[in-house]
Amino acid sequence: MSTAIIMEPDIQQKLAILGSEAAEEVTDVPATQSIQQGIQHATGFVYNAKQAGGGTTRLFKVLQTNACRYRCHYCFTSCAIQRKRTTFKPDELATTFVSLTEQKRVDGLFLSSGIVPDANTTMEKMLGTVERLRLKEGYTGYIHLKLIPGAAFEYIERAVQLADRVSLNLEAPNQARLNDLAPDKEFASTMWGRLAWAAALIKRARQEGRPAARSLTTQFVVGAVGESDRELLETVQRAQRELGLWRAYFSAFHPIARSPFAEQPAADPTRALRLYQSDFMLRDYGFRYDELPFDAQGLLPRDKTPKQAWAERHLHAPVELNCATRQQLLRIPGIGPKSADKIIAARRAAKLRDLAQLRALGVTTSWAAPYVLLDGRRAAVQLGLW
Ligand code: SF4
Repeated sequence: MSTAIIMEPDIQQKLAILGSEAAEEVTDVPATQSIQQGIQHATGFVYNAKQAGGGTTRLFKVLQTNACRYRCHYCFTSCAIQRKRTTFKPDELATTFVSLTEQKRVDGLFLSSGIVPDANTTMEKMLGTVERLRLKEGYTGYIHLKLIPGAAFEYIERAVQLADRVSLNLEAPNQARLNDLAPDKEFASTMWGRLAWAAALIKRARQEGRPAARSLTTQFVVGAVGESDRELLETVQRAQRELGLWRAYFSAFHPIARSPFAEQPAADPTRALRLYQSDFMLRDYGFRYDELPFDAQGLLPRDKTPKQAWAERHLHAPVELNCATRQQLLRIPGIGPKSADKIIAARRAAKLRDLAQLRALGVTTSWAAPYVLLDGRRAAVQLGLW
């Protein structure tokens, strides 16, 4: 009778497995969209995240383990899919990260994990990694730590103390949709409730002047189980209102081979983009939720931006850019917060008279032209001059 020898993967092998699987979970936004900030793209285990103030930071995006007891139908790591499983010990992962920072390959850590055998044990390992970095290695840089659904209060509390950002992916807008998407997960208590704990802990730390995570985020899978854009954005709005959610990310569904959803078509990435644009309209452009251009099924248009769709229905008279308020400027397609501020600054020095001036201020003139007047003249007429 022969005895099989099972070799434990070495650190490089673990890195290859746990880095590449973490990179599978990337938010879907075309790189050409410049209006978004904080949108990310992955290359291997290095995750290029745009910072709110401009510039890019390279995050080491990795799983503590790719073993998981859950069956989420959109996830590569689901226990329903046969694959090689491995786990980083906290010290191994911490030293791997330190070595990557010393080689100047990454600037920060984004740590997520499969859940095994339970939420608390998983968070203990993740916190072990982060504690080693913060307390033994003296690492003071950026850490984004995923919260594990169902983890006990003390683990959420420790995560908020140690990380710069904490997040928990709600994945679906409500329990009914979650039942189809991730049948083992529970929405109200183990997911929303943990986000609420984290939000309260962040708020209290701020009031008391103690260091704590600066932001709370979540993510949704889009287009797998028939949820509408209205349902998703309603939940985002509620999370912003009740939890002070900093940002929601949207990931268009991609079928995973050998999963129950393997035969389902991939969702259109434009749908995720329209959700981001609507979220920006609500947070940064002063639109109200009831102004979003949903159709009867609660979906946003795909062939134009939500602001273009709103403008077609509501902007019946062109707006004179030389005297419009900032709020009026932000309602014009092609003008964002930065270009609105630049318009206001530029017109103090000289009247705005042509589209070339607007283009230089960052306006998407092909979108804005039908809706604006420049010194009393319709810009759409001037378009023919260029
Ligand atoms: S709990 Fe997380 S890691 Fe596990 S299957 Fe679900 S999404 Fe994937």
